[in-house]
Amino acid sequence: MDPAPGNHLQAVKIELNRLEAYRRRTYFVVLALTVAIMMLSWAFREQSDSFITIAYPVFSVIITALGFAFWRRSLQLRTMEITLVAVVGTMILSRLAWHFAVGDPLGEHLLLLTGGHYWAVGIMIVGGFIALGFRGGMVTGFATLLFSGALTTQEVSQCFLAAGDHCQNWVYLLRIHLFLTVLLVLTSAGTLLRERSWSAFARAETLHHWANTDPLCGLANRRGADRFLSAEAAQADRYQRPLTIILIDIDEFKSINDDYGHEVGDAVIREFAAILSKTVREVDLAARWGGDEFLVATPGVDLRSARHAAQRCRRAIERAPIAGVSVTATVGIAEYLPGQGIEDAISRADAMLYRAKAAGRNRVITEACELV
Ligand code: GH3
Ligand code: MG
Repeated sequence: MDPAPGNHLQAVKIELNRLEAYRRRTYFVVLALTVAIMMLSWAFREQSDSFITIAYPVFSVIITALGFAFWRRSLQLRTMEITLVAVVGTMILSRLAWHFAVGDPLGEHLLLLTGGHYWAVGIMIVGGFIALGFRGGMVTGFATLLFSGALTTQEVSQCFLAAGDHCQNWVYLLRIHLFLTVLLVLTSAGTLLRERSWSAFARAETLHHWANTDPLCGLANRRGADRFLSAEAAQADRYQRPLTIILIDIDEFKSINDDYGHEVGDAVIREFAAILSKTVREVDLAARWGGDEFLVATPGVDLRSARHAAQRCRRAIERAPIAGVSVTATVGIAEYLPGQGIEDAISRADAMLYRAKAAGRNRVITEACELV
């Protein structure tokens, strides 16, 4: 079931933290696999391959350190992701440059490059989008293509100038670059689509949040409370589960405004709401019902337990000053009767509140006690 409306932002924060932890774990596993592959390549390298002999151990150490930084949350995730792309990108592109410098990319090295290393360049382009999103991915992708294109152009022009006999092989390198460009376009389109959907989703969530939240105190407003209450009433009807409505009203709030000013009155409402939301369980609803009146709904809690909880809350309010002002509150409680509609329970709780006010304020009256 959805969280109570006032708990919505909290739920979003928890979800974002969970997502970040998931990303960090994924990076850690991918980096561990990368290091394993690099160590295997190093173990089975050709002795003449100076790049693998020297650079792979260095990069393995750097990537291992990065992996642990992801795991231990040493730095902000975004900083880590940029560092990761920079390190892996440097490794892949310097290996590419090494192939061009040491080998003969249009001759004997062509198969090695097209069948092997350009896969890593492709992965680098896709990885840039996964780690950095659309903008970062575009920057990484274009930089990679430009670098690789520049190496190829230089190699091909040198070959033609030297009138080599295998210069026509440039067509294969051109095909690879076309393939990489298509990969860049597709991945960027997919990433953009995903980001647009995410931001539309986030906008809808924000609108939903503000439509259901009281801007002064952050609790659910009446609309949010109504949604919660009708859903809980349906559950109570279906599963014969108790649902108790508690209405709480600040005593003589008008005089607080008059004596201390409207701003202090606002601060009292904010702190009062904070006390309420600390008092209720996660599955309960605490809402600002209007003005200085608050509604708490406690699914699965009967009248007797709700009364104890309300007494505890009332005493807590009475005990310590709120925003520097001595405050008391009066409470009326009624239980939802299956099939009678939630408005009926609210108006009975309101009747109890009215009686409690008439009886002298700063007290809790429940319907059952009245009936007894
Ligand atoms: P009682 O003990 O009978 O509840 O007396 P009361 O003065 O609390 O009751 P009443 O309903 O007459 O006063 C509520 C006051 O709350 C009136 C209104 O000006 C004030 N109020 C309503 N909303 C806000 C608000 O957002 N901020 C502030 N500062 N005051 C508000
Ligand atoms: Mg009042």
